[in-house]
Amino acid sequence: MQLANHHAHSNFSDGRLSPEDYLKNAIDQELLLYGFSDHAPIPHADFGAMKMEDLAAYLSEVDRLKEQYGDRIQIYKSLEVDYIPGMISLESRHIKEADLDYTIGAVHYVDFFPDGRPWGFEASVAQFERGINEVFQGDVKAALMRYYELIRIMVRDYRPDMVAHLDRIKKLNKGDRFFPERASWYREEVIRTMEVIAQAGVIMEVNTKSFYKKELEETYPGKWALEIAREMNIPVNIGSDAHHPDDITKGFDHASRVLQEVGYTTTKIFLDGIWQEVELVKPMIYTT
Ligand SMILES: [Zn+2]
Ligand SMILES: [Zn+2]
Repeated sequence: MQLANHHAHSNFSDGRLSPEDYLKNAIDQELLLYGFSDHAPIPHADFGAMKMEDLAAYLSEVDRLKEQYGDRIQIYKSLEVDYIPGMISLESRHIKEADLDYTIGAVHYVDFFPDGRPWGFEASVAQFERGINEVFQGDVKAALMRYYELIRIMVRDYRPDMVAHLDRIKKLNKGDRFFPERASWYREEVIRTMEVIAQAGVIMEVNTKSFYKKELEETYPGKWALEIAREMNIPVNIGSDAHHPDDITKGFDHASRVLQEVGYTTTKIFLDGIWQEVELVKPMIYTT
């Protein structure tokens, strides 16, 4: 298992309970490090992201926790930053000024409704269908291709340290409800995107939320993509995307197993403030 989590959400964005509650669980689980990464505020809109007026308090709360608990666990300050062209990116002023230890880039919105609001594809099945119909005139393939194009642009032009949940757009696609994940055009989009990630030297997250929340039966991304990622030598990091302190390492054993099956022996974690390859360790077995 990987003894670190870099991706979770507290009540500063859409998670439950305080950053300190997450940290206490991380200390109880004897993690080497814990990274805070609430949703960054999105200017001009309110999407369950952090409110702009709460950003300063969030950043200083993480600093306070570093002071108070820094001798027991390594603590890092980050944000999960959306890429919405013209609205927010890693180059946005409030992100640059946040002085983050590391950055996570994510795409949760694909283009805009006619009223100018970005299409958040994961809110509900109805919202997914609305976006396909109103933003992409019913063309699901065009929507998918645009989603992956946005990730490629984000990685190529803004270089986050890590790209979150590569194929999050499949969240509501259980049983291939909207598109065939095995289709060669779809897989080619994923592969093209991983080529850009490999080229940029960006870490790819293996996000376990889909697995432990039972959205799907696998991680974002799943095994077939990880097999190719391994061939491309893409560094990976296991992230829980927890929205409750109890979930900070949920699904990590599963993700470790899948990674080992496809040939990974290490993940990259922000240990001592540097991204380092660390061996995947077997889960500890306690005997009485
Ligand atoms: Zn996300
Ligand atoms: Zn997240």
